[in-house]
Amino acid sequence: MLVDTYSRKFKYLRLSLTEKCNFKCSYCLPNGYQGCSSRNLTLDEIVHLASAFKELGIEKIRLTGGEPTLRPDLCKIIQALKEDVGIQQVALTTNGFRLEQDLLRLKSAGLDSLNISLDSLQADKFKQICGVDKCESIKRSIDLALALDFRSIKLNCVLLKDVNDDEFLDFVEFVKSRHISIRLIELMRTGDNRAYFEKHHLPVSELQQRLLQMDWRPYASNLLGGPAKELSHAGSKGRMGFISPYSKDFCSDCNRLRVSSTGGLRLCLFGQGDAPLRHLLQTPEDRDSLKEHIAELLKFKPRGHRLHENIYGNMHSLSAIGG
Ligand code: SAM
Repeated sequence: MLVDTYSRKFKYLRLSLTEKCNFKCSYCLPNGYQGCSSRNLTLDEIVHLASAFKELGIEKIRLTGGEPTLRPDLCKIIQALKEDVGIQQVALTTNGFRLEQDLLRLKSAGLDSLNISLDSLQADKFKQICGVDKCESIKRSIDLALALDFRSIKLNCVLLKDVNDDEFLDFVEFVKSRHISIRLIELMRTGDNRAYFEKHHLPVSELQQRLLQMDWRPYASNLLGGPAKELSHAGSKGRMGFISPYSKDFCSDCNRLRVSSTGGLRLCLFGQGDAPLRHLLQTPEDRDSLKEHIAELLKFKPRGHRLHENIYGNMHSLSAIGG
């Protein structure tokens, strides 16, 4: 198993399939995606990569981006990860723009769990934040996903002061009748969002406290879980989760590694760069060298990020690797 210098164990890989995104979220890509994503890992390279990580003990792979559903071969990738590589849990993080049409195909391909980004429950506000008119379609796809019985469904909502913080109780109401978990994500500072961050950053801990006063209680998550601290309530089917990257010891139980859409291993979201793996993804004969290289690189995983010191590495926008 992959274990780093600080005894953290890694069973969870986040793999970006493309840097390209079709939303214009005000805190992430306000002017839309401007780059060119032609160098994405191919299906064969992804299979080589995942096979090596599986042999190193990775059990869960989250496909992210950019917007991973922009990859025309997404279902093939999911199927290969499940059937050919044997990854136990394949998850997808998506903005949900075409989930209504795609859900059944994704489920048939073997997708286990879904994280859907939804920054507002109100159509107008959603459009104001994300630049597209998709709120109602995404809400319909959440209910469709529930009917299709995915192993887990989570909603990602970036908490934005004076933009969507007034919807907090609406989100609590939304999960009451649905077996889903909402993650309220604290806005993170990146290279591109300084002014926005200063205006709209709000610690999620304030809302966490409010829920504790409303009889919500801590819910224990498992080893393959994400970074959210979850709360549950006897009167609610769903749970509320909080991702607070600025909290003390946030990185102490980090259990995930990241690979970029061009095959770079990123040891810390807010680190200085990626270590290229692509040259070792061309043939199965390189599998042992690839595994040794990954294990060697893991020695350089830092103890934690330094966001609270306003150091965000070379992370310009989370769309580059998927958060
Ligand atoms: N396109 C996919 C989506 O929208 O879910 C995957 C990529 S997106 C970068 C992953 C998550 O990161 C989304 O939930 C998004 O809202 C969140 N995110 C982006 N920039 C962020 C920031 N500066 N702070 C906190 N969360 C951010």
